[in-house]
Amino acid sequence: MRRLRNVKIVATLGPASETYETIRALHEAGADVFRLNMSHGTQAEIAEKHRIIRQVEEDLNSPIAILADLQGPKLRVGVFANGKEMLEQGAEFRLDLNPAEGDQNRVCLPHPEIFEALRPDATVLVNDGKIRLKVKECGADFALCTVIASGEISNRKGVNVPDVELPLAALSEKDRGDLEFACNLGVDWLALSFVQRAADVLEARDLAGNRAAILSKIEKPSAVEKFDEILYASDGIMVARGDLGVELPVQNVPPIQKRLVRKCRAAAKPVIVATQMLESMIESPMPTRAEVSDVATAIYEGADAVMLSAESAAGSYPIEAVQTMNKVAEEVEQDPTYRQIIEASRDAKRNSVADGIVAAAREIAETTDIKAIACFTQSGTTGLLVSRERSRVPIIAMTPLTNTARRLALSWGCNCVVTDGVSRFKHAVVNAASAATEGGFATTQDQIVVTAGVPFNVAGTTNILRVAPCDARLIYSTDPE
Ligand code: PGA
Ligand code: MN
Repeated sequence: MRRLRNVKIVATLGPASETYETIRALHEAGADVFRLNMSHGTQAEIAEKHRIIRQVEEDLNSPIAILADLQGPKLRVGVFANGKEMLEQGAEFRLDLNPAEGDQNRVCLPHPEIFEALRPDATVLVNDGKIRLKVKECGADFALCTVIASGEISNRKGVNVPDVELPLAALSEKDRGDLEFACNLGVDWLALSFVQRAADVLEARDLAGNRAAILSKIEKPSAVEKFDEILYASDGIMVARGDLGVELPVQNVPPIQKRLVRKCRAAAKPVIVATQMLESMIESPMPTRAEVSDVATAIYEGADAVMLSAESAAGSYPIEAVQTMNKVAEEVEQDPTYRQIIEASRDAKRNSVADGIVAAAREIAETTDIKAIACFTQSGTTGLLVSRERSRVPIIAMTPLTNTARRLALSWGCNCVVTDGVSRFKHAVVNAASAATEGGFATTQDQIVVTAGVPFNVAGTTNILRVAPCDARLIYSTDPE
């Protein structure tokens, strides 16, 4: 799908968005990446959503990235007989290991480690910190709490225990099973929740191999401290502001977001800004001004993608939420101030031939009337480097590998096209020219810049830059083999 903006939109799927019609409409409205949350839904439900996305991808001939988000050592309550309960301030509420459905007085918290670590007076936060409980009394299998801040608690809501250090492994048994399942399904990205150190990422990579790229969710104070090593070990990052703003004071989140977004761009790795971006649209067709501003801020900062969580998964207006993000993105990217900010924050450090070629491609394209930069990429690395340049001219990422096209769908500006395996440069140029004209980026009168690596079909060889006409007859008559 041709977009009139470069930043990408990630939409989480859930009960509000599980049919073919809705998922297709979300993609058409602007969702480039779909997030499947492994914390919710059975493997059969996840497989069905995956199947539908691939069907939409095929029907619209438009590469889509699928991001499977592993639960990680996230603490969650069990389920309620009524699905939800209202906890009133001052009331008592018990957390325990009993797997029976919860009610107004108790619910299961299936994590024995918590009960071992909890002490009286410790704070237990539920549902992104909206409900605050204080431990009154606790034992090896229960904690009796007083409700300090009231709110609605419902099935599998998240729990944070900021005062207590929990000795939890990066990948639970469930995560390992889900990881294998998601890789076998053929997802493109795996998101790791509550990463604390680079070793957590390496552990997942060992299990996933080349089957999926690894995205680390930064939502623990220790992940912020060890961000550089985590970024180095990861293929992408999510600024997971929901849990981050519970584990750390909320006012710490915006500066962390800014810093992380810049570091990711410098490293040429995609970064998603996530959570509560259009929260009020769960129930309202109109966002608040502050939410619009938050989405805009992430885009001005240069994020690769902005994300919808419950807005698209469980809200009443999933499509409107995507449309809103799309409109905000189009508006921000037309603002001359956006260009100034993006250009001022471009990192000039370059150390490879490919770095030099993509920088030159951008310079040439922006200096003259060039309609697009088409880059041939095998592993996706050149696509990432072109994306990092944040050029004013549209990027067409050409690859013979469907997996590479799908992964790059998360990266800023990448319009991904799966092309025939080419072995000669002339054919590459012809293919790039037709992708540009068919995609509506250029006419046969126009010129594009093409980058490629010869020999073809080898990763890491980008070594050619050609300014080419979009008219195939001209290419055939002028180009050498
Ligand atoms: P979650 O992650 O939605 O899986 O909790 C995102 C966040 O914490 O912001
Ligand atoms: Mn989280």
